[in-house]
Amino acid sequence: MDIFIEPIGRLINQFSKLPGVGKKTAQRYAYKIIGMSEGEAKEFAESIIYCKQRVRYCRVCGNFTENEVCDICRTRDKSTICVVKEPKDVIAMEKLHEYKGVYHVLHGVISPMDGVGPNDIRIKELLARIDESVSEVIMATNPDVEGEATAMYIARLIKPLGVTVTRLAHGIPVGGELEYTDEVTLSRALIERKQI
Ligand SMILES: [Zn+2]
Repeated sequence: MDIFIEPIGRLINQFSKLPGVGKKTAQRYAYKIIGMSEGEAKEFAESIIYCKQRVRYCRVCGNFTENEVCDICRTRDKSTICVVKEPKDVIAMEKLHEYKGVYHVLHGVISPMDGVGPNDIRIKELLARIDESVSEVIMATNPDVEGEATAMYIARLIKPLGVTVTRLAHGIPVGGELEYTDEVTLSRALIERKQI
Protein backbone atom coordinates (compact mmCIF):
# COMPACT_ATOMS: atom_id res chain seq x y z
CA MET A 1 0.00 0.00 0.00
CA ASP A 2 1.15 3.49 -0.84
CA ILE A 3 2.12 5.60 2.16
CA PHE A 4 0.43 8.67 0.66
CA ILE A 5 -3.30 9.00 0.24
CA GLU A 6 -4.25 8.99 -3.43
CA PRO A 7 -4.66 12.75 -4.15
CA ILE A 8 -1.35 13.60 -2.50
CA GLY A 9 0.45 10.73 -4.22
CA ARG A 10 -0.88 11.96 -7.53
CA LEU A 11 0.37 15.51 -6.94
CA ILE A 12 3.79 14.26 -5.85
CA ASN A 13 3.97 12.25 -9.08
CA GLN A 14 3.29 15.38 -11.14
CA PHE A 15 5.99 17.41 -9.40
CA SER A 16 8.46 14.53 -9.82
CA LYS A 17 8.25 15.07 -13.59
CA LEU A 18 10.00 18.45 -13.27
CA PRO A 19 13.76 18.64 -13.91
CA GLY A 20 15.86 18.45 -10.77
CA VAL A 21 12.90 17.54 -8.55
CA GLY A 22 13.36 14.31 -6.63
CA LYS A 23 10.77 12.48 -4.52
CA LYS A 24 11.59 14.48 -1.38
CA THR A 25 11.30 17.87 -3.07
CA ALA A 26 8.12 16.76 -4.85
CA GLN A 27 6.66 15.86 -1.47
CA ARG A 28 7.61 19.29 -0.08
CA TYR A 29 5.96 21.02 -3.05
CA ALA A 30 2.81 18.93 -2.63
CA TYR A 31 2.55 19.81 1.07
CA LYS A 32 3.04 23.47 0.20
CA ILE A 33 0.10 23.29 -2.22
CA ILE A 34 -2.06 21.62 0.40
CA GLY A 35 -1.21 24.49 2.78
CA MET A 36 -2.45 27.08 0.25
CA SER A 37 -5.90 28.60 0.28
CA GLU A 38 -8.20 27.27 -2.43
CA GLY A 39 -7.82 30.60 -4.28
CA GLU A 40 -4.02 30.41 -4.28
CA ALA A 41 -4.04 26.80 -5.42
CA LYS A 42 -6.46 27.68 -8.22
CA GLU A 43 -4.26 30.54 -9.39
CA PHE A 44 -1.24 28.21 -9.40
CA ALA A 45 -3.03 25.54 -11.43
CA GLU A 46 -4.57 28.07 -13.83
CA SER A 47 -1.22 29.72 -14.58
CA ILE A 48 0.03 26.38 -15.92
CA ILE A 49 -2.92 26.04 -18.29
CA TYR A 50 -2.75 29.76 -19.21
CA CYS A 51 0.93 29.42 -20.13
CA LYS A 52 0.27 26.32 -22.25
CA GLN A 53 -2.56 28.04 -24.10
CA ARG A 54 -0.79 31.35 -24.74
CA VAL A 55 2.83 30.49 -25.46
CA ARG A 56 3.92 29.31 -28.88
CA TYR A 57 6.99 29.49 -31.09
CA CYS A 58 7.69 32.55 -33.23
CA ARG A 59 7.19 31.63 -36.87
CA VAL A 60 10.45 33.39 -37.80
CA CYS A 61 13.00 32.80 -35.03
CA GLY A 62 11.53 29.90 -33.05
CA ASN A 63 11.63 31.73 -29.71
CA PHE A 64 8.66 31.74 -27.32
CA THR A 65 5.99 34.33 -28.09
CA GLU A 66 2.31 35.06 -27.57
CA ASN A 67 1.93 36.20 -31.18
CA GLU A 68 2.67 34.69 -34.55
CA VAL A 69 5.87 36.75 -34.78
CA CYS A 70 7.73 37.80 -31.62
CA ASP A 71 8.52 41.37 -30.51
CA ILE A 72 12.25 40.95 -31.18
CA CYS A 73 11.64 39.86 -34.79
CA ARG A 74 9.17 42.70 -35.32
CA THR A 75 11.24 45.56 -33.92
CA ARG A 76 14.97 44.82 -34.12
CA ASP A 77 17.83 45.08 -36.63
CA LYS A 78 17.47 42.11 -38.99
CA SER A 79 20.94 42.42 -40.52
CA THR A 80 22.47 40.39 -37.67
CA ILE A 81 21.15 36.98 -36.63
CA CYS A 82 22.40 35.37 -33.42
CA VAL A 83 22.00 31.57 -33.55
CA VAL A 84 21.38 29.81 -30.22
CA LYS A 85 20.45 26.33 -29.08
CA GLU A 86 17.40 27.04 -26.88
CA PRO A 87 14.99 29.82 -25.86
CA LYS A 88 16.76 30.18 -22.49
CA ASP A 89 19.92 31.25 -24.37
CA VAL A 90 17.98 34.22 -25.80
CA ILE A 91 17.29 35.28 -22.22
CA ALA A 92 21.01 34.99 -21.36
CA MET A 93 21.91 37.24 -24.32
CA GLU A 94 19.08 39.72 -23.71
CA LYS A 95 20.25 40.25 -20.11
CA LEU A 96 23.38 41.92 -21.52
CA HIS A 97 21.33 44.75 -23.11
CA GLU A 98 24.11 44.89 -25.67
CA TYR A 99 22.84 42.92 -28.63
CA LYS A 100 20.53 44.77 -31.03
CA GLY A 101 19.97 42.13 -33.70
CA VAL A 102 17.54 39.23 -34.01
CA TYR A 103 17.84 35.56 -33.03
CA HIS A 104 17.41 32.11 -34.47
CA VAL A 105 16.63 29.31 -32.02
CA LEU A 106 17.74 25.90 -33.30
CA HIS A 107 15.89 23.87 -30.64
CA GLY A 108 18.84 21.54 -30.25
CA VAL A 109 22.31 20.90 -31.61
CA ILE A 110 23.67 18.24 -33.92
CA SER A 111 24.54 15.22 -31.80
CA PRO A 112 25.05 11.92 -33.65
CA MET A 113 25.40 10.10 -30.29
CA ASP A 114 21.83 11.10 -29.43
CA GLY A 115 20.57 10.51 -32.95
CA VAL A 116 20.12 14.24 -33.67
CA GLY A 117 21.08 15.12 -37.24
CA PRO A 118 21.04 18.45 -39.14
CA ASN A 119 17.46 17.84 -40.27
CA ASP A 120 16.23 17.45 -36.70
CA ILE A 121 17.01 21.06 -35.71
CA ARG A 122 15.92 24.35 -37.32
CA ILE A 123 18.78 24.73 -39.83
CA LYS A 124 16.57 24.79 -42.95
CA GLU A 125 14.56 27.59 -41.37
CA LEU A 126 17.76 29.54 -40.73
CA LEU A 127 18.94 29.17 -44.34
CA ALA A 128 15.53 30.36 -45.53
CA ARG A 129 16.05 33.60 -43.58
CA ILE A 130 19.37 34.44 -45.21
CA ASP A 131 19.00 37.07 -47.94
CA GLU A 132 20.89 40.20 -49.00
CA SER A 133 19.61 42.10 -45.94
CA VAL A 134 21.60 39.81 -43.62
CA SER A 135 25.25 40.80 -43.13
CA GLU A 136 26.32 38.73 -40.12
CA VAL A 137 25.36 35.46 -38.45
CA ILE A 138 26.72 35.03 -34.92
CA MET A 139 27.04 31.39 -33.87
CA ALA A 140 26.27 31.42 -30.15
CA THR A 141 25.83 27.73 -29.48
CA ASN A 142 27.49 26.48 -26.28
CA PRO A 143 31.27 25.88 -26.43
CA ASP A 144 30.95 22.12 -25.99
CA VAL A 145 31.59 19.39 -28.59
CA GLU A 146 28.07 19.44 -30.06
CA GLY A 147 27.84 23.24 -29.96
CA GLU A 148 31.16 23.65 -31.79
CA ALA A 149 30.31 20.99 -34.38
CA THR A 150 26.92 22.61 -35.03
CA ALA A 151 28.50 26.07 -35.38
CA MET A 152 31.02 24.73 -37.91
CA TYR A 153 28.38 22.82 -39.86
CA ILE A 154 26.16 25.89 -40.19
CA ALA A 155 29.10 28.19 -40.99
CA ARG A 156 30.02 25.95 -43.94
CA LEU A 157 26.49 26.30 -45.33
CA ILE A 158 26.17 30.05 -44.82
CA LYS A 159 29.60 31.41 -45.80
CA PRO A 160 29.13 30.63 -49.53
CA LEU A 161 26.06 32.90 -49.42
CA GLY A 162 28.38 35.87 -48.79
CA VAL A 163 27.45 36.38 -45.15
CA THR A 164 30.05 36.93 -42.42
CA VAL A 165 29.84 34.16 -39.83
CA THR A 166 31.26 34.84 -36.36
CA ARG A 167 31.62 32.79 -33.21
CA LEU A 168 31.44 34.10 -29.65
CA ALA A 169 35.00 34.61 -28.39
CA HIS A 170 36.38 32.21 -25.85
CA GLY A 171 36.16 33.14 -22.23
CA ILE A 172 33.01 31.09 -21.85
CA PRO A 173 34.51 28.01 -20.18
CA VAL A 174 34.85 25.05 -22.56
CA GLY A 175 31.96 22.69 -21.91
CA GLY A 176 30.08 25.56 -20.28
CA GLU A 177 26.67 26.93 -21.13
CA LEU A 178 25.55 30.42 -22.08
CA GLU A 179 22.88 30.26 -19.41
CA TYR A 180 25.40 29.87 -16.60
CA THR A 181 28.03 32.26 -17.94
CA ASP A 182 28.29 35.51 -15.98
CA GLU A 183 27.20 38.63 -17.81
CA VAL A 184 30.64 40.29 -17.96
CA THR A 185 32.18 37.20 -19.58
CA LEU A 186 29.31 36.70 -22.01
CA SER A 187 29.32 40.37 -22.91
CA ARG A 188 33.05 40.25 -23.67
CA ALA A 189 32.59 37.05 -25.68
CA LEU A 190 30.00 38.89 -27.79
CA ILE A 191 32.12 42.02 -28.35
CA GLU A 192 35.27 40.03 -29.17
CA ARG A 193 33.53 37.54 -31.45
CA LYS A 194 35.71 36.15 -34.21
CA GLN A 195 35.06 35.38 -37.83
CA ILE A 196 34.97 31.65 -38.63
ZN1 LIG B 1 10.90 35.85 -33.44
